[in-house]
Amino acid sequence: MNDLRDEDAKRDLGDTFRRLIAATGPISLAHYMGESNQRYYADKRPIGGQGGDFITAPEVSQMFGELIGLWLADMWIRAGRTEPVHYVELGPGKGTLAADAQRAMKRYGLTPKMHLVETSRRMRDAQLAAVPGAIHHHDLSRIPTKGPVLIVANEFLDALPVRQLVMTDEGWREVMVSVDAAGNFIEVPGRQPMDSAVAEARRHAAPGTVIETSPACATIMFEVAGRLAEQQGAALFIDYGHSDSSNGSSLQAVREHQRAGVFDAPGEADLSAHVDFAQMEQIARSRGCRVLGTATQGEWLNRLGITQRAAALAEFAPQHREALMRATERLTAPDQMGELFKVMGLAHPDWGEGVGFNPG
Ligand code: SAH
Repeated sequence: MNDLRDEDAKRDLGDTFRRLIAATGPISLAHYMGESNQRYYADKRPIGGQGGDFITAPEVSQMFGELIGLWLADMWIRAGRTEPVHYVELGPGKGTLAADAQRAMKRYGLTPKMHLVETSRRMRDAQLAAVPGAIHHHDLSRIPTKGPVLIVANEFLDALPVRQLVMTDEGWREVMVSVDAAGNFIEVPGRQPMDSAVAEARRHAAPGTVIETSPACATIMFEVAGRLAEQQGAALFIDYGHSDSSNGSSLQAVREHQRAGVFDAPGEADLSAHVDFAQMEQIARSRGCRVLGTATQGEWLNRLGITQRAAALAEFAPQHREALMRATERLTAPDQMGELFKVMGLAHPDWGEGVGFNPG
């Protein structure tokens, strides 16, 4: 019985898209990205050095999750140690960050309920092994509304589908995905005029100009900021991104630690796009939430004392000294993960400034 369903699940997503496009016409890029990533995270073991497609900060070193736990504990203690308190992580991957943060928070008397928002069943299993007893959610809707929330998301927003608009000779159109005669996926402009979807200040642009937006990111931020403003708490969003909104496509595919074509093999590669932090900040403020700042990952980790933490750990386990130094370098050096990755901090207006952000 099960075989049939497994076979169905294994059906090539590219073929499914081809059939759909043949029957009903081009699909939006957002549709293509959303379905592709859903399949990718359901089927693959994406994160890790060997056998994985990419490596994330918590997998580089336990210091990453520990410093996040420390930051959350500091915010919570200064705000008056309100209970009950909820740790909420979006897209927790293997659960490593949650486990490391949990250990660090506990040292400061912070033992929140652990909530993990994850859609992939395969990922959920790994997360439960790392954080026994954690409660899983499909989205934020069932997270308790009583007590502050401590929200964390690392490389989550970048996996959500983006929508692109392109300037053509006929005006603005949505970027759609179609197939050519050989069956390859290609981008085509949609037929529907989209000029009114573009802010007036940006409407006049050279043909070929692309504007990328993420309605899914905006929705998440709207919800998170609303929760922080209503029930108190703080949040950290860490992701690839620019702090100024700018033109152009940032969509990319990664497979086995290499760049791949976005249309090569849907569901087989990780698709991601840069996060528009300026827009995220704007949404957070509009909901009455306090923006603590957006720092580069390198700056933020250095201000939290990653170097001292590495030295302390090395003192304790000298055989790991070199690995600890390498990990610190990898997480903070501008030519590695230190500059491209940003850390955005949010909090309830009555909560204090967050360590690591430049006030003002
Ligand atoms: N934070 C982890 C994993 C990043 S990969 C780390 O740093 O290692 C993205 C994670 O988000 C995966 O766990 C993936 O399954 C999950 N995810 C992707 N889209 C999602 C969605 N729409 N809702 C919930 N989780 C999602």
